[in-house]
Formats: sequence, structure tokens, C-alpha cells
Amino acid sequence: MSTRTIRDLPLEGRRVFLRVDFNVPIKNGVVGDDTRMRESLPTIRHALDAGARAVILASHLGRPKGTPNPEMSLRPVAARLGELLGAAVAFAPDCVGPEAERLVREAPRGGVVLLENLRFHPEEEKNDPAFAQALASLADVYVNDAFGAAHRAHASVDAIVRALPEAGAGLLMEKELRYLGEALANPDRPFVAVLGGAKVSDKIEVIENLVPRVDRLLIGGAMAYTFFKAIGKPVGRSLVEDDKLEAAREIIARARAGGATPASPLLLLPVDHVVAERPEAGVPTETLETDDPAIGDRMGLDIGPQTQAVYADVLRDAQTVVWNGPMGVFEIDAFAAGTIAVARAVAAVRGTTIVGGGDSIAAVRKAGVADRITHVSTGGGASLEFLAGRTLAGVAVLPGRT
Ligand code: ADP
Ligand code: MG
Repeated sequence: MSTRTIRDLPLEGRRVFLRVDFNVPIKNGVVGDDTRMRESLPTIRHALDAGARAVILASHLGRPKGTPNPEMSLRPVAARLGELLGAAVAFAPDCVGPEAERLVREAPRGGVVLLENLRFHPEEEKNDPAFAQALASLADVYVNDAFGAAHRAHASVDAIVRALPEAGAGLLMEKELRYLGEALANPDRPFVAVLGGAKVSDKIEVIENLVPRVDRLLIGGAMAYTFFKAIGKPVGRSLVEDDKLEAAREIIARARAGGATPASPLLLLPVDHVVAERPEAGVPTETLETDDPAIGDRMGLDIGPQTQAVYADVLRDAQTVVWNGPMGVFEIDAFAAGTIAVARAVAAVRGTTIVGGGDSIAAVRKAGVADRITHVSTGGGASLEFLAGRTLAGVAVLPGRT
């Protein structure tokens, strides 16, 4: 990786501003899934072990739209972080201003201070330089470990880098960029991508960027129906994006041109599916081949057993797998089998496996195989932008290695 990292930075005796992604679920003042917090612990510990004078942690939480909102306070996160670190964590009730300044000034050597939600200030999302300067004044060195927020040019991600003399990526950021970057630039082959989820429109650029790179692209989820409609297959009332039919046709044509043969096509669509009146527990379901007009006006809600077998076969030989997007409405057990089967097949791959996307990660957990995935990305939107071939704003602004 060509970006500077925390390992390249002078930390001894410095105040380190560490942008993290602590955007975790909070219910009744208690943190739920704290995976994102745990993922940044190595970076925090690295700074402390390197003799940082203080570590100042900053994050957003939810979408408070520029005004303080007690339901989106990071205070419960400070409590949980104290438990995880086994050390006291001071909490600054505003991310800028005299109280935050005092807490940093009075922190013991190697003290940890968590700042309140950055998005309580509208200037954060506006990438306001004066606000970035106020954040920067708390510290000497900037480190960005918030991969999940790296695709947004916000003050704590972008403008702040210009306000501090030293900056680099944290260890989690480095790990995310390494896994995703290697998969795109230099994958072990066969390289197989599995894409599903609700909308083609969210992921069209990802598909376009992956087609020339992968050996196989397996499509599932609602996304498949835009492709089916584009090639004249019956789709009933399945989710289709009519304004993306032309794009779907183009992708199919490009996938065909890529040297694939009918016996070994690059792009695979489901051959069978589970259909029902609506995505609801308890409704009658039927499994049909995807070209069977018997779908009528029902919806396709999961891939069927033949498709599961075909996809598992393709995955068996893979050396690199990138998966984003469930194969069906996995939140409902009747439509979860396809996603669970793919999760198991991905987990059984001997090569490198990467899973990104909030729902995909939930699916991998539901299937009980999360610990058998090489890299579970912490960033949904950010990982999609990266896979689409875009440069992440928060990474582009970091200095390179010299
Ligand atoms: P991720 O969060 O992993 O990026 P998405 O948000 O793109 O995934 O898609 C997940 C959603 O797609 C889930 O809520 C799931 O119910 C829905 N979905 C998957 N397949 C279908 C389908 N055939 N019909 C309707 N919704 C679907
Ligand atoms: Mg989602």
C-alpha cells in the first residue's frame, strides 16, 4: 500500500487524533454489536504502546443532521470502550470547545478521550475548514481508521488532514485497503464475485468494474430480476428496476465478450427460484425454474436448490471470493436457504474470502460462518465504492509513503 500508516508516524509524546467508525447500534443506552469498536482496538493500542501522550477518538453515530440528539450520543460507547480497553476513557460532551480541550490537556500520559458525535455539528458533513481546525487543535497527529466513513469528504475525514502536520491510515483502514485492493489488483485465481441484494442501481458500477477482473460473477437476490426482464424472462411482480434494463443488457453483452464460453459463462444468473405472493413468513411458496411462466404475478424471493448447487460448485474451485448482497429475503426463514447455502460455500473456500455489506455480514453471522471468512469488511458503502473502482476521499487525502 502506498498510503502512509500509523506505523510511519512519530507518536511518542504526541496527541493523536484518531478518526474511528464507532457508528454502532445503541439500544436503551447500551451498545449492541460492538464489532466495529473491537476492530479499531489494535490501532488504539498501537498508539498507546508507541507512547502517545493522549489518544483522542472521534466518530459519528447515526444521522443527527447537525443538532445534538441524546439518542445518538456516543456516551454509551465510551463506557463500552473502557471495558474493552481495560482502561479509563474520558468522554467529552462536545467534540470541540473548551471542555474537550480541558479533558485532553488534563488527560494523564497515555490517556484516552472519546469526543461526542461529530455530526452534532452541521460543519462536519459540510467539510468546514474552521470546524476541522477546531478538531485539529486538540492534537498533533491525525490517523484515520474509519474505513466505513472514508468515502465521505467530511471535516473529520478530509479537511482535518490539511490542518495537521502528520497524517496516516490506522491499522484497520490498512487491513481493509489491503484485502479489497489485492482482490481487485492482484487476485489469486479463479476469482469469483457473488453479488446480490435489493437493487441493481446500488451496485451497477461494482458489476461493471468487476466484469473485466473476475473469472466468474454469480448473481442472486432481487438484482437478478432486472437482468431477467432485460433478456425477456418472466419476472412476475419481482423487484425490477426498469430504468436499468439497458445497463443490464450491456453488462450481459460485455460478460459474453470477455472470452467466456457457453459452457463456462462469466456471468451466472439463477436457474431456479422460490416464488411467493409476497415476502412474508407463512405464505405458500413454490420452487420454479427461472424461465417458467408459472410465476404468474408472484415474486421471486430466493435462489432455488439447483442454483445453490451450481454456485457452490463454482465456489469450490475459487481462490479469491468477494461477496456482497444476500441471495434472497434472508430475514424470513422461508427465503433464507439460498443465502445460507452460499454463506457456507464461501466459508468452505480455501483461498481468500471477503464479505462486505451490512446485510451480507448479518447473513454470514446468521449462517454461523463469520469466523471462517478471511475478511469481513466493516464498511458497507465504502467497500462498495472501493469495489466500484472509485478512490475513497478519506484515503486520497492521506499522504503517500516516502
Ligand atoms: P448489503 O447490505 O449486504 O449490501 P443490500 O442492502 O444490497 O445488501 O440487500 C439486502 C436486502 O435485499 C435484504 O433486505 C433482502 O431482503 C433484500 N433482497 C434480497 N433478495 C431479494 C428478493 N429476491 N426480493 C426482494 N428483496 C430481496
Ligand atoms: Mg443493506
